[in-house]
Amino acid sequence: MVKKKKVAVIGGGVAGLAAAKAFDDKGHRVVGFERSHDFGGVWELSRSYPGVQTQSPKDLYRYTDMAMPDDYPQWPKGPQVHAYLHSYADKHKLGRLFQLNTDVAGMERRADGQPGWTLTLESAGRTRKEDFDFVSICTGQFSYKNIITHPGQDAFVAQGGKVMHSSEYTDSEIARDKHVVVLGGSKSSTDIAVNAAEHGAKQVTMVYRHNVWRLPYFIGGINFKRLLYMRAQEMQFNSWGRGPLKKMIAAITKPLVWANFRGLETMLKMQLGLKKWNMVPDTPIEKEASCSLPLVTPGFFDNLKSGRLKTVLGTFDHYDGDSVVLTNGERVKCDVSVLAVGWKLGVPVLPDEYRKKLIEDDGQYRVYRISVNPELPDMGFVGFNSSFCTTLSAEMIANWLVRYADGQLARQPSDAEMRDNIEMMLNWRRNERPAAQVYGGLCSAPFHFKHFDELLADMGAKKAKRSNLLAEQFSFPDADAYGTFLASTPQYMAQ
Ligand SMILES: Cc1cc2nc3c(=O)[nH]c(=O)nc-3n(C[C@H](O)[C@H](O)[C@H](O)COP(=O)(O)OP(=O)(O)OC[C@H]3O[C@@H](n4cnc5c(N)ncnc54)[C@H](O)[C@@H]3O)c2cc1C
Repeated sequence: MVKKKKVAVIGGGVAGLAAAKAFDDKGHRVVGFERSHDFGGVWELSRSYPGVQTQSPKDLYRYTDMAMPDDYPQWPKGPQVHAYLHSYADKHKLGRLFQLNTDVAGMERRADGQPGWTLTLESAGRTRKEDFDFVSICTGQFSYKNIITHPGQDAFVAQGGKVMHSSEYTDSEIARDKHVVVLGGSKSSTDIAVNAAEHGAKQVTMVYRHNVWRLPYFIGGINFKRLLYMRAQEMQFNSWGRGPLKKMIAAITKPLVWANFRGLETMLKMQLGLKKWNMVPDTPIEKEASCSLPLVTPGFFDNLKSGRLKTVLGTFDHYDGDSVVLTNGERVKCDVSVLAVGWKLGVPVLPDEYRKKLIEDDGQYRVYRISVNPELPDMGFVGFNSSFCTTLSAEMIANWLVRYADGQLARQPSDAEMRDNIEMMLNWRRNERPAAQVYGGLCSAPFHFKHFDELLADMGAKKAKRSNLLAEQFSFPDADAYGTFLASTPQYMAQ
């Protein structure tokens, strides 16, 4: 018999909702904590920059039992995703499980000798402690701003300049009639640069260090989901745990794979005019493919053509008067400086002693199936397995984690097996696939199918592939199908 547990879910974004549902479905007593006033995480309205939309097409950014509404566009806008998450919470009555405006300030092992953790909770100026049998951490990768400063910033601000993190660019009017300089080359940086250029900025300059491959929403007129999210494509990347036969097949097909990716690069160079804009990356695209691969913000190249937006390779050196001086010596007039320099990965709620067991010196996470670590008992992460379809990934790992917590995996791993697997994955990321080290190794893309296959096999799913083999090989992960695969796993209820 599986004993009913009291489970804490920290975070009310995509992953927190998935975790709350998975543990609630199995009969556990779930208490969710969200420090904001609302669900949604990165999609919560006050946190989103104007014009934000998903990178994933809508059929890839959804839970298994709820499609996005038909009238949503292929790439929904931030407020639409936010509304979808609310509908999902309503459908499963998840609101009753969460305490909003409640920050989990810390956690420690329970003093009463029972398994589990004591959380320190802060809400409305009050601090209290509460015991839990299991903790699901769903705090995402975008909860702690990466704050950087440059010499001369105080004087720049004193003379009227504004400096902000990308997440503070929440109103296009910030840019009107201003010289805007955006630091960074990620998707948020191009989104903000385009938004500023299209909302009356006098001039927008985007400053970034390296060219990276950017995917257009349509490659040669075809939605990128039909070209890039398939087993046939995934098999061309050097995944972990390949046996001698797979390695031999990879060696034989290497020239074909090489030609495939050079073809893709040529197509991208031609379609986007990368040479003209001095934006051809140095790294082969297959070596770069990971969660950091951005999509081209609609309007980006049009704004380059019109001259409203310009790009400079380099970074900020210092502020001087009303300008930013770049490392190449160029001075760029600046009224608003937007630092699109990302977020700090981390799990600040964890005590140091445990954080050291979780994170290697080079920032790589020690997590089995991107969720648990045998040295950190009675807890696991949901949503840390980010991907190009993170909602589905979060739901898959949430379902895995509840079974792990209950000892109900068909392949319940021993501590030794987990340690060996963690070492194997660290070794693979460091030596065979450096791109997989992005975000501390917490990215399952582009290996969506392989990751889901492992989770389903662990859960003992009777079905893990579509009956239509062609669709399975040449089509994107189908959320409805994954719903049926999850339903084919052994079911149980905690008592
Ligand atoms: C602009 C943008 C666009 C994106 N587009 C895509 C996309 O198209 N496809 C895709 O797959 N992914 C995309 N992502 C990645 C995105 O992060 C994930 O898809 C997903 O939303 C992550 O959900 P999450 O619940 O793991 O984390 P979050 O959404 O970050 O939610 C974490 C929650 O935890 C709360 N929290 C943190 N610490 C505490 C604490 N101590 N106590 C209480 N609460 C706490 C936070 O307030 C937050 O609400 C995008 C991200 C951004 C920023």
